[in-house]
Amino acid sequence: MGYLEKYKGKKADFQARHEAQKKKSEEGGGYRSSIFDGKKIPDDIGFWSPKEGEHLIDLICWEATELFPDDEIQDAIRQAKIDNPTSPRDSKLWPIVFAVDLWTHKRIGVAKDDFICQVHMFRTKDPMCEHLNANPGLPKPEWNALRAYHQYIYYIWDHTTPQEEQKGLQIWRVPSFFFQEKVDEIATIPQGGGVIPYSSPDMEGKTIAFKIKGSRDQIEYLGHRFIDRKRDLPEYLLEKACKYPLESLLVLHPEYKTMFESLYGEPYVEGAEGEHKARPVTSAANVDNAPSPAGGDETRTTTTRKAEGVGTSEPSPPWDKCYRGRAFGVDTDKFAECLRCPGWDDCFDAGKRISQPSQPSQPSQPAPTTSQPPAPAPEPEKPKRLLGRRK
Ligand SMILES: [Zn+2]
Repeated sequence: MGYLEKYKGKKADFQARHEAQKKKSEEGGGYRSSIFDGKKIPDDIGFWSPKEGEHLIDLICWEATELFPDDEIQDAIRQAKIDNPTSPRDSKLWPIVFAVDLWTHKRIGVAKDDFICQVHMFRTKDPMCEHLNANPGLPKPEWNALRAYHQYIYYIWDHTTPQEEQKGLQIWRVPSFFFQEKVDEIATIPQGGGVIPYSSPDMEGKTIAFKIKGSRDQIEYLGHRFIDRKRDLPEYLLEKACKYPLESLLVLHPEYKTMFESLYGEPYVEGAEGEHKARPVTSAANVDNAPSPAGGDETRTTTTRKAEGVGTSEPSPPWDKCYRGRAFGVDTDKFAECLRCPGWDDCFDAGKRISQPSQPSQPSQPAPTTSQPPAPAPEPEKPKRLLGRRK
């Protein structure tokens, strides 16, 4: 039998290999640490990477699990178990969600690893946040390369083309600024009228249209609007999302050692937490030149947030105070709204002046000896979650 004849019999298998490779590439090439556990993602669920142009999607909800990283959802699950101890998932109190709200350190180290921020999410510790706390005077590009970014992860059903629609459930990872924040705006009914239940799986829910313009550093997500549904979402998609809850596909708690070695590019020695001041192997180039393959590149918002004139009720920069009531130069990046703040540059620069004062110390204060005292570890504000829950 000739080779091509033999190939015919293996064609389906070979096609599956292509699909698997594509997924691996989308998820970061298989060599880097990701916020996803690739082994847990079913073969027929891929990652959605929308291109420039118009898009039309539904968000697919699922029943949350005990893994879901949100206190409110965990409380609801506890209540549901009290409400119906024999079959808690049948309890009317069991929460349904449509997104995982995450803070993520991106493209850390030479391998460009991604990690879920343990400080913002779980109030424990991670070497990236420790490094930032220990080095408050870092130049802006280095700071940006290490800080955590706010993202959302969804299950979506794409109607942009029949081919995309055919794919069914896909995972979408996107900065909050590009999608969730815009959708929150249009979901709010004026004069205290409540919120449009856009993530409902029935006809009350909405299909969401939006447009992507530009690419890379100049990308914009525009024109978000709701389109009425003509029918309920199909059962098979909802059942599939419930079978593979998104939170169960994530590496929610990466090992400290793994994060440390990725950040500093050297072996972790027990007890080195929080004391390591060496220059991390991450460089500003990681931020500027290598957008995330999964489309989760929140650094792009630095350019677009100004272009879109976010926060028009506030005065134009330069700012010398925080118009959102936070501590100027101190609370930089501690709140979700910092990400799209037009005064971010000024706030960051003020923070540097605070940490590296040009004035000599007051005579009454003891002069610093060898190095600056470590800055007090800031208490990060737990980001507010924006999750759909049906009763
Ligand atoms: Zn962190």
